[in-house]
Amino acid sequence: MTEKLLSDVRHNFELINENIAKAAERSGRKREDITFLAATKTVDVSVINYAISLGLDHIGENKVQELLSKYDSYDLENCSLQFIGHLQTNKVRQLVGKVDLIQSVDSLKLANEIARQSTARNITTDILVEVNVGNEDAKSGVAPEQVEELLFQLCKIEGISVKGLMSIPPICENTQKICKYFDKMRNLFLDIKSKNIDNISMDILSMGMSSDYQEAILQGATMVRIGSLLFGERIYK
Ligand SMILES: *Cc1c(COP(=O)(O)O)cnc(C)c1O
Repeated sequence: MTEKLLSDVRHNFELINENIAKAAERSGRKREDITFLAATKTVDVSVINYAISLGLDHIGENKVQELLSKYDSYDLENCSLQFIGHLQTNKVRQLVGKVDLIQSVDSLKLANEIARQSTARNITTDILVEVNVGNEDAKSGVAPEQVEELLFQLCKIEGISVKGLMSIPPICENTQKICKYFDKMRNLFLDIKSKNIDNISMDILSMGMSSDYQEAILQGATMVRIGSLLFGERIYK
């Protein structure tokens, strides 16, 4: 771990926080209304913990194996650990009880397994429903048209608590296009919120990454997930 890397992370952290504050203000909200979650895949725990020492208070991993291998080393006293990647049912048991939020729930089957593992531990696990907002074949997530129907099933299940929606929109060549997807997510989020479904809260709208987090906030995101802009380009070992 080099001095240069740490000073870059510190600089990036400050810059991102300033930009989040500006975007929040432009969208009629406060800095504290927006959660900055750092996507920490491939990042060394020492660097993650350095960012936490600067005030970073939400991190997300996207692979169960990687999360488990780093788990004992994270400084989590003042930081929430979340899961943001595609989750297979057979890995749920290893994850439940370790993370504060599973952002990537995209089927009844997966939700049922999270609930089963949670009730076995006498806990409730907070989840988001992942929406495949661009209806892309290769992407996980529930089709926008099917979100409400899934929520009416999830609201009856003990051991899980739905807190909102998450999405990874298609890669777009310009911000105008991506904003269309963010807008679609916001409308879905507000539409569901207005229905006040029992046991379902719509507090978190998780969307926006390094290249588009400011646009996402302007379109109503309450949480952005940022990796490379904070930590630099990912190096896959
Ligand atoms: C890696 C990752 C991000 C962050 O991506 P960047 O473009 O590096 O900011 C956000 N969300 C998920 C689910 C990720 O896996």
